[in-house]
Amino acid sequence: MTGFSTRAIHAGQEFDPTTGAVIPPIYQTSTFVQDGIGGLRGGYEYNRSANPTRDSLQTLLAALEGGAHAYSFASGLAAEDTLLRALLAPGDHVVLGNDVYGGTYRLLDRVLRAWGVDLSAVEMSDADAVRAAIRPETKVLWVETPSNPLMKITDIAALAELGHATGLTVVVDNTFASPALQNPLSLGADVVVHSTTKYIGGHSDVLGGAVILDDDALAERVGFLQFAVGAVSAPMDAWLTVRGIKTLPVRMHQHSANAQAIAERLVEHPAVERVYYPGLPQHPGHEIAARQMSGFGGMISLALAGGPQAARVLAEGTELFQLAESLGGVESLIGYPDAMTHASVRGTALAVPENVVRLSVGLEDVDDLVADLDAALARLAVRV
Ligand SMILES: *Cc1c(COP(=O)(O)O)cnc(C)c1O
Repeated sequence: MTGFSTRAIHAGQEFDPTTGAVIPPIYQTSTFVQDGIGGLRGGYEYNRSANPTRDSLQTLLAALEGGAHAYSFASGLAAEDTLLRALLAPGDHVVLGNDVYGGTYRLLDRVLRAWGVDLSAVEMSDADAVRAAIRPETKVLWVETPSNPLMKITDIAALAELGHATGLTVVVDNTFASPALQNPLSLGADVVVHSTTKYIGGHSDVLGGAVILDDDALAERVGFLQFAVGAVSAPMDAWLTVRGIKTLPVRMHQHSANAQAIAERLVEHPAVERVYYPGLPQHPGHEIAARQMSGFGGMISLALAGGPQAARVLAEGTELFQLAESLGGVESLIGYPDAMTHASVRGTALAVPENVVRLSVGLEDVDDLVADLDAALARLAVRV
């Protein structure tokens, strides 16, 4: 297999054989002409079942995660929903981390629960707690590492072993690391899911999701549901995602470098009570992260010494860091999870501390980013 950067540029991206166009065209079509009934050209029939642009993205995603099969969807949650339908039946139970993405919890708790699926949210870094939560009906162990927004690190290889000992399917949401920094399948996980909206797309201009796996039988079920439920990625969205992926390795390298510099600066700031960044040696998951990731990524969360009010004022007080949901784009964003990304888990076991602010560190000059945070934190000191 070629190196990661080579795959990011070339996997599934052969030039167009009719014109020689270096970039494969966007097949912006809903259907395909048949040469007589059932006479399909290249197997293409209707856009919900398959489209060449989506295929090129799926080939690329499989190559990046080192999986045999990849399926792309209209959003990360569409990918998760399709995967969970493929894995679960009424009466089944899911064990998931207690600070997974709020939307993942909401999908299980408020959508799938009504279809007879039960769930338990546990501290994934505590193997005994995970083991205690597993019941005879448990089918899926859902891991997110680094987690959103508290950047908890889970030992993927250890959890895969634990899950497989009781016959569970081990799923890793690899959105925060991206395949450039972490490959869960190579660590023993069964399935990887992504919100490609984030680092994989990388430019805050397209929504998408992916399921990547090795098992042929499960892949067939996911592929059938992708077609039968229909939450597929549109051709233009698939093309934009492919375009973003080509620079994924260099972007992740720079996101990590910028975030490391900012985290090291913030730990020393008197207005900051705690910095959650796995690249800091004092982070409780630092050693595991150093082992299973090839970089620590661009996401940082901070707890403000001045409490919830200080967190809100900081989130509204930066200029380069724009106040917005989402993450993983080239531009820096700041968010207040309690009232934004994680509002859906307020009052549950997954609630985020109210003095926490989340940063998606972008690719601007790091000195400008530091100056922006310094200025906003200084204003905070005056106000509180
Ligand atoms: C954003 C996100 C999702 C959901 O993806 P969408 O593309 O917004 O549907 C899932 N997991 C994580 C970790 C995310 O950050």
